[in-house]
This record gives sequence, C-alpha cells and structure tokens, in this order.
Amino acid sequence: PVADKQCEVLVLGSGPGGYTAAFRAADLGKKVIMIERYASIGGVCLNVGCIPSKALLHMSVVLNETREMHHHGITFAEPQIDTNKMRAFKDGVINKLTGGLSALAKARQVEVVQGYGKFSSSHTVTVEKADGTTETIGFENAIIAAGSRVVKLPFIPHDDPRVMDSTDALELAEIPKRMLVIGGGIIGLEMAQVYDSLGAKITVVELGDTIIPGADKDISKPLLKKIQKQYENVFLSSKVTNVEAKPEGLVVTFEGKKCPATDTFDRILVAVGRAPNGKLIDADKAGVAVNDWGFIEVDQRQKTNVDHIYAIGDIVGQPMLAHKAVHEGKVAAEVIAGLPSAFTPMSIPSVAYTDPEVAWAGKTEQQLKDEGIEYEKGAFPWAASGRSLSLGRDEGLTKALFCAETHRLLGAGIVGPNAGELIAEAMLAIEMGADMQDIGLTIHPHPTLSETLGFAAEMAEGTITDLL
Ligand code: FAD
Repeated sequence: PVADKQCEVLVLGSGPGGYTAAFRAADLGKKVIMIERYASIGGVCLNVGCIPSKALLHMSVVLNETREMHHHGITFAEPQIDTNKMRAFKDGVINKLTGGLSALAKARQVEVVQGYGKFSSSHTVTVEKADGTTETIGFENAIIAAGSRVVKLPFIPHDDPRVMDSTDALELAEIPKRMLVIGGGIIGLEMAQVYDSLGAKITVVELGDTIIPGADKDISKPLLKKIQKQYENVFLSSKVTNVEAKPEGLVVTFEGKKCPATDTFDRILVAVGRAPNGKLIDADKAGVAVNDWGFIEVDQRQKTNVDHIYAIGDIVGQPMLAHKAVHEGKVAAEVIAGLPSAFTPMSIPSVAYTDPEVAWAGKTEQQLKDEGIEYEKGAFPWAASGRSLSLGRDEGLTKALFCAETHRLLGAGIVGPNAGELIAEAMLAIEMGADMQDIGLTIHPHPTLSETLGFAAEMAEGTITDLL
C-alpha cells in the first residue's frame, strides 16, 4: 500500500516500552510516529497496571496500619470508605502521568496517531481509526511494543460482570462480601490485598504449591503465613475447574487437597497471567516471526528476524515487567540510531507490592542448587532489626546469596515493608559485581531497613555470628 505519511521510526504501542523507545529515538534526532489504540498513552502500566494498582495499594496499607495501631496504644475509629473518591484519587494519579507523557511527546515532536495498527507490508503499518477511516504509515524502522493482554479461561463466564480481570478490579465498582481470586501470583495477590482491606472476605486459589511462583520460598513464606491468617482461605495445589453464573452468585467447582468441591462467591477475579499480542498485528505481512505463544523473538539488540524491525516489552517474553520494557525500548532506539547498545542485564528484579512486600533479584537459592553453583548464604531476620520492630513488624527477612569462590552477590530476596525499594541496592551490587565485603563494609544508615542487606552480607562472611 501507498503510505499517507512517512517516518524514520514507527513505534507500535505506547506503553513503557513504546514511549521510552519513541522518546529516545526522537532525542537521537529521528522522526518518530507512535501508534496507540487508546486516547490515553502509557499502555497497561500507567492506565490499568503498575500505577493504578500502587495507588490503591497505598490506601490499603494505610488502612491496614491504622487497624494495627491499637497495639501501639493508638485507636482510630473505623474508617469511612468512599470508593468514588478512592477511584478519583487513582484516576488523578494516572491522568497526571499520562498527561505528562503527552507533553513530553509533543516537546520531542513525536507524533501520536490514535488507532489500531497492523502491518500491511514490511515497510508500512495501516492504522484503523475510531471513525472507521484508515491511514497508512511508511517507516524505515519499526519497533513493536504492542504489549500483552489478560488470559481468559474457557470454563469461566467472562461476560458476567461479576467475573473480573485486573482492569475491572482496579475500577472498584463494588466491594463484594466474598471474593475468589484465581491465581496466587503478583497481580492476584496485590488486588486481593486491596479488596481485603476494603472489607471483602478473600479466598485465593493457586495451582502451584506456593504463592508467587518464581520467588524464593523463604521470601514468599512470611506473606503466605500472613494471608493464611487474614483471608478466609488460601488453597494451594488446587484449581478451579468450572464456574457457573447463577442469580444468587458464582458457583465455583474446585479440585485440590483442602478446598471444598464447590462454593459460591459474589465476585471472582481471574489473574492467571497475561498473553502477548504478537498474533494480533499481522506481523506475517512484514515477515516478522511470531512463535506459537504469540511472543516475538529478538536478539540482544532487540532485532526481530527482519533487520529493520525491532520488538520490546511484554511481547518479547518474560518477565513481563515495565522496567524490562523501558530498558529494552532504550536499546532498540539506540541501535536504530547507530549506537552500540545491547540488552544484557545481569538480572531483572521482581516485586510484589503486597504487605509485606516480596522482592527478589538474581538467582534464587533453588536456582543455584539446580544449576550446581556453590554458594554462601546470609539470611538476616528482621525480628533483629531495630527499625523493623519500631514499625511494629517482625516478619521480614533479607537473604543474600554469594558465589562461594568469588564471594560476589549472585542473588537476593527481601520480604518486609519497603522490600521493593530495598532490592535496588542488591540489584546494583549484582550489576557491579560487588562481593560480600563490599556490601558488609558499606556503612548503611542506622536504624534503617537497608541495614539488613549489610547484615546479611556480614552473616555470609562470618563477621556476624549471632543476632542481638
Ligand atoms: P503495554 O504496557 O502492554 O502497552 C502496549 C500498548 O500498545 C497498549 O497501550 C496497547 O493499547 C497498545 N497496542 C497494542 N496493540 C496495538 C495495536 N495493534 N495498535 C495500536 N496500539 C496497540 N510491571 C511492573 O514492572 N511493576 C508493577 O508493579 C506492575 N504491576 C502491574 C499490575 C497489573 C494489574 C498489570 C496488569 C500489570 C502490571 N505490570 C507491572 C506489568 C506491566 O504493566 C507491563 O509489563 C508493561 O506495561 C509492559 O509494557 P509494554 O510497553 O510492553 O506494553
């Protein structure tokens, strides 16, 4: 097809990967067009992912803390909850960020075309707009940043408004009496926490034998113990095999060790993972290979099998996280501009922003065992941290794993309030090749939770042998 417009770099999708790539390419002097189907740019992360969930989780943590404060001698009245105002706060945060992005795009003369884009040849994308018209955009290079979508299960009536995905759950349409969360991963547990603190009775059902598959079990255990006490039920090694929508509720059939055969819930949140959008963009018309799962395979420079077409973010593989997309986006833009960039991180950190937070970076202990790597371990319980006890919390743990030979940090796991912030130090240590002495001899401010990584390193080194 003949192009209506031409650009040097076309970016398909405006999530954290897409906008980062678009802005970097424009900063490097390229003429950029970014295509986004929705009016608001920022992708899943800003509109229906990382940011709105964190806005709600903040309110949830405040609610939980005020309820615990009677242990400290301070008693609050039962909070008045206005979900309309909560929603407005969350939407305000989103609007500030997406509005900021639009201004940043304008300042760089990145043109944003609204509509659904599909490849129409190896050098064109045709965009279908809301009014039914189409526009074909020609490009020298393209960066596919079309992200992912929620996975649906065939035996669940997804059309019933009582069945929610994460996007629906973030809307806070109603606080149900009893809610089932299918999937004990990060997204399911974060939303479970929000609804629990707002008064819903939560049941979590997870196929695996523990929550947050992928995290070190020592690190996920304190969260598991807490929610086992707090929620109505946490069913592990269990699954939902059927859901029937009846007027009186959603009748769920379970299979597993400790769960009932059936139970009825007011609402269900399905959080069983996300699927890449690779098969929804006519990639074949550009000759771009998409695998059976819908992922687009790329090399370290984010190149697909087609030399001038790149892909980044959720659509290229796990972990589906915003910070991975951002770094990949920078690499793709820089490679197009002729810079010698490559995506070669030592690790990509993960965080569950639950309460306590669960964060990890590098190898888990199980991975080191499976790979036959000799390691030394330091695990510092927060019950011995003055700062943690001052917060009224003692369930945290900081675990650091070092190479037995080089003493370099290979992995770390942290559970406790603010673990997500604390893991950044471990990440820097992994990237810099820091060893246990580097971390142990670094003077951490006292009393902080950050000290716990220093102590864990000293425990591995043997310079701390007993806890105060
Ligand atoms: P996306 O953000 O998915 O953006 C893709 C964009 O492309 C979308 O705006 C989409 O509309 C658009 N698009 C797709 N196809 C087309 C097309 N054909 N034409 C035009 N436009 C198109 N990650 C974290 O790191 N931290 C978190 O705390 C976190 N929390 C999350 C919470 C939830 C509830 C969810 C669902 C996800 C969360 N994530 C989190 C994951 C994170 O949102 C994603 O990893 C990230 O958004 C991926 O970025 P991306 O650029 O690859 O694509």
